[in-house]
Amino acid sequence: MDLPRTASAVVIGGGVVGCSIAYHLARRGLADVVVVERETVGSGTTSKAAGGIRVQFPTETEIRFSLEAIRVFERFQDEFGVDPGEGALKDDEIGPESSDIYTTEGA
Ligand SMILES: Cc1cc2nc3c(=O)[nH]c(=O)nc-3n(C[C@H](O)[C@H](O)[C@H](O)COP(=O)(O)OP(=O)(O)OC[C@H]3O[C@@H](n4cnc5c(N)ncnc54)[C@H](O)[C@@H]3O)c2cc1C
Repeated sequence: MDLPRTASAVVIGGGVVGCSIAYHLARRGLADVVVVERETVGSGTTSKAAGGIRVQFPTETEIRFSLEAIRVFERFQDEFGVDPGEGALKDDEIGPESSDIYTTEGA
């Protein structure tokens, strides 16, 4: 495959992190984002993930990422046109109210 000779941003690795970065750059208006993947997209540890979401992490940054991930799943079908899975985000297992326990806002 011929790679573009120029790009505004080049993301190395087409796992969930690289694809998410590319998606959000494009959504913010960057027209020519290139994702470089040495195997196939999603073939790394992303293909092994069980789909669990946890919010207990040692750093505020990680907790913020995790809380935002929950919000992404809540609007997933509207934004991406794909059902992330029946039974996702059961309120009694995880949800905004349980998230509050773990926020460190203002810390
Ligand atoms: C068994 C298992 C279960 C898991 N379950 C969960 C879960 O339930 N919930 C959860 O949140 N997380 C889970 N995880 C963790 C989660 O899968 C990873 O944190 C996440 O997939 C990491 O994504 P990534 O994009 O950083 O890495 P990857 O998905 O590994 O993507 C990196 C990509 O970069 C490519 N690459 C690397 N170097 C180069 C290079 N030089 N040039 C081009 N391409 C390159 C690789 O080929 C790969 O495709 C699980 C992990 C495992 C192993």
